Amino acid sequence: MPTLESLLQQSAERHRNHLCPRQVLGARMGLYAGELLDVEFPQRDKRVFCFVETDGCLTDGIAVATGCWWGSRSMRLVDYGKTAATFIDTHTQRAFRITPTLTARKRAYAYAPDAPDKWHAQLQAYQVMPTFELLCAQQIKLTLDLQKIISQHGLRVVCEQCDEDIINERFVERNGTRLCLACADGAYYEMDAIPITLPRLSAVVLAE
Ligand SMILES: [Zn+2]
Ligand SMILES: [Zn+2]
Repeated sequence: MPTLESLLQQSAERHRNHLCPRQVLGARMGLYAGELLDVEFPQRDKRVFCFVETDGCLTDGIAVATGCWWGSRSMRLVDYGKTAATFIDTHTQRAFRITPTLTARKRAYAYAPDAPDKWHAQLQAYQVMPTFELLCAQQIKLTLDLQKIISQHGLRVVCEQCDEDIINERFVERNGTRLCLACADGAYYEMDAIPITLPRLSAVVLAE
């Protein structure tokens, strides 16, 4: 199992070579999840699935500690803006939601008395604070269908309105028509009337 130190180094590398308290929390949460679920982390398969409740720094720490990541379809953002994550063992269906304890932040100076400010106190303290003081875990039951989220990887359907491909079963059926979510429920973008292509520019880039 990799040490916390090596995990934090990996996390900082993917974080503009900079370590911050939330990455440490993420790595500690991931290590704790591995203990609770009794699985070997960082995973090389997709056994454990993770819901993170915020984007940003925390996810880098979680990713290096667990191996859960968007790229392997084993992580998903539920953006509550909270420093929290749930880890589900897809073999046993056991799931734990892990958050920092309510006192973790206040206790930081006790573990880093010489820190010049709060930020540095947290950065140092979160690396050495005992898990029971730093993190709180609760066993939970999912209220959604994880199999639906994981879905059939690679299944491809064409939207009958915009003709774009939809993968991973993300289409919906309305009145017997298969639609992408953008066509069915409205998208986060609006299109200009004329599509833009830059054939000459892309030719130059490709040639290099
Ligand atoms: Zn950060
Ligand atoms: Zn569509």
